[in-house]
Amino acid sequence: MEVQRKDEAQQGAGMFGTPSRRAVVGAGCAVALGVVATGTGLGAYMENDDPLTDKPHGRGSATGAYAADDVILSMCNNCNTYCTIKVRVADAADGAEANEGATALVRKIAGNPYSPLNSQPYAPVPYETRPEDALSPDGGMAVAGRATNGGMICLKGQSGIQLAHDRFRITKPLRRVGARGGDEWETVDWDTALDEIVHGSPTLGTPGIAEWYAWAPKKQVEADVTLVESGAMTQGEFDAKWADVLIDTKHPDLGPKSNVSDTFSSCDRT
Ligand code: SF4
Repeated sequence: MEVQRKDEAQQGAGMFGTPSRRAVVGAGCAVALGVVATGTGLGAYMENDDPLTDKPHGRGSATGAYAADDVILSMCNNCNTYCTIKVRVADAADGAEANEGATALVRKIAGNPYSPLNSQPYAPVPYETRPEDALSPDGGMAVAGRATNGGMICLKGQSGIQLAHDRFRITKPLRRVGARGGDEWETVDWDTALDEIVHGSPTLGTPGIAEWYAWAPKKQVEADVTLVESGAMTQGEFDAKWADVLIDTKHPDLGPKSNVSDTFSSCDRT
């Protein structure tokens, strides 16, 4: 049997162990058949080729029992669309073993039914609708599979559950320990973090925003640049006037010192 398996493997492999053309063509056919089979499966749920007008295709009717006060309306940060979302949460006591210290357990993320952003192609639920009527399940979502009582979000948005309960999720500010690049960190409380960001860190010896933040009115700087260019103002006078706020008075186009700061979105776009 061992010899036979080797022979079969040699038939399927070309020189240097790479797959033969026959093997690659065979694999390609298998993939194509898989695609056809998948398409057939999807087709069973589609009345026509328009995914927005297909017939209801949800499976089952179990939506779980929850009320409007088990729902938080929030915003997805998983990309820069910032969709409005409906988050169904359970008390920590409902999932204590899986919760690992969280105060609540996210059970489901969907679109906010009040928002036109996540209810297309249907109209959102009118704002005057009571949350008790708009947010608690009536089985329509599971059966119709559409956003008639809960908006749509993409799969990445729904993966927010994994992000929220990721055991490696960073939940406290981290302060570097030792030299930059050493990749050693310690947690600090939020008050300490905010104080050191604004006023500088004695531990790290870094300046704070309050020390280097400066802003200059663009039109005023541009007017003075025109004066320097025309000779009505000397470069020295310009330097003395703007040295405290511009990054470089010889390059006023770089703007004020506040331009050296940057912010990072909280989007998880990996
Ligand atoms: S990841 Fe999806 S649900 Fe979240 S904001 Fe982006 S598009 Fe919306």
